[in-house]
Amino acid sequence: MEKHLCKVKGCLNEGRYCRLHPSGSLKEPKPIAPRSKKLSEVMKKEYVPQVKEMVEKNTPCKVKSPVCTGKATGFHHLVGRLGKELTGKRKVPCCDPCNSFLESNDAYARANGWKLSKFNPELQSEKVYKREK
Ligand SMILES: [Zn+2]
Ligand SMILES: [Zn+2]
Repeated sequence: MEKHLCKVKGCLNEGRYCRLHPSGSLKEPKPIAPRSKKLSEVMKKEYVPQVKEMVEKNTPCKVKSPVCTGKATGFHHLVGRLGKELTGKRKVPCCDPCNSFLESNDAYARANGWKLSKFNPELQSEKVYKREK
């Protein structure tokens, strides 16, 4: 791929090749997601029922952050919500306050194994389900 110099004002890499702005400007031509329709189908047919079932079973929140309500109302995704991660196994029952707590406390989330890099070799390990005491 052709390399462009970054033209984004104030960017650390302005005037050089920049990984943040590989096309040289802020306006990345975003491919229109052809799967958006498919994704909403997956949401409706798989994910929503998963959440519903989990909530109906009175599943406790697994994250147990300092703001936890104790009752899961959704899922926290350990590796994001893209593709098969949305409905896959790498998600844990989570309450709303915990979900936003993890969103805004990246260090806490990582330290407690609630946020994993796709490239983390420990991704499959049991550590993921370790509980806060
Ligand atoms: Zn840049
Ligand atoms: Zn919680």
